[in-house]
Amino acid sequence: MFTYCIEVLNLSEPEAYLRIAVARASRAHPLLLEMLADGRIHLSGIAKIAPHLTMENHAEVLRRATHKSKRQIEELIAELSPRPDVPAVIRKLPARKPSPMPAPLTAPSPRVQLRPDGVTSPPATAFAPKPEPLAPSRYKVQFTADAKLKEKLERLTALMRHSDPEADLADVIDAAVTAKLERLEAKRAARTSAPRKSIEQTDTTPGSRYIPAAVRRAVHERDGGRCTFVNAQGRRCSESSRLEFHHERPFARGGGHELDNVRLLCRAHNRYRAERDYGRDTMDRYRRAASRAREPEPVYFVNGIRRDAFPDKRVLGRQPTKRDRAARRHRAALDD
Ligand SMILES: [Zn+2]
Repeated sequence: MFTYCIEVLNLSEPEAYLRIAVARASRAHPLLLEMLADGRIHLSGIAKIAPHLTMENHAEVLRRATHKSKRQIEELIAELSPRPDVPAVIRKLPARKPSPMPAPLTAPSPRVQLRPDGVTSPPATAFAPKPEPLAPSRYKVQFTADAKLKEKLERLTALMRHSDPEADLADVIDAAVTAKLERLEAKRAARTSAPRKSIEQTDTTPGSRYIPAAVRRAVHERDGGRCTFVNAQGRRCSESSRLEFHHERPFARGGGHELDNVRLLCRAHNRYRAERDYGRDTMDRYRRAASRAREPEPVYFVNGIRRDAFPDKRVLGRQPTKRDRAARRHRAALDD
């Protein structure tokens, strides 16, 4: 059968294994073929879930697996057959041989670094380790650390064991991640346990380029740390990263930092509103006006700091980048 798949049907080895596994599973549970035919489940999903199907549970399990991604099916399996927690380990990997191929197209072994200065150019999401579900709310996380990180983890473990002799690797990473998260969130949302000024004591007149910390805190709190853009169908944007403070009445037209004039928008929606507030024409003129009379420059705020909406004129003349196109798709999806 395997040879037939490879030599006659010209399937690759993994493709052949997948199809044979699915064919075998469908003998015991013919419903699988029906679901496969009408797109309720995919081949990889069947191969994952098949070993966990019984005569008793298959109807219910397959109902729950309908239209689920491979990851969601893994979560379902973790619930059906929970696996025990894995022990916390640090182990040495064999030294990596230098790759003879320049710039491989497939992702190299993920190197996750906790040091902000150690993070290199590839986008974090591309190399983010995917936690593997073990049982409900239990995940196995795996990554490769360099010698410096290993040494820091050991130092932190030793320090933490003064107060908590049981602390293991997961506790140490939890403590480090929590501390970093608190610091970054405090910076982003001006969150602090001892605010210097309340919103009532804050001067919100538009004289300064900084949005006062009390306003940033209150806006972040009120908007739930999420973009507040709502499209024509009433759907709110779910973006919670790279948020910017948007002035309803533009700063360049005298809008102040009052609480009801400032709201959170994601980067794409902030740019979209900039175009709407100042008009395409203004933007087009701005684009051409390297030496001619200046339009009032659109002003927006990023992390509470005043920025020109189009700070770099070279940016306007260039070809759209991948990120521009992604932002446009993101806007289109929300404005459809
Ligand atoms: Zn948004």
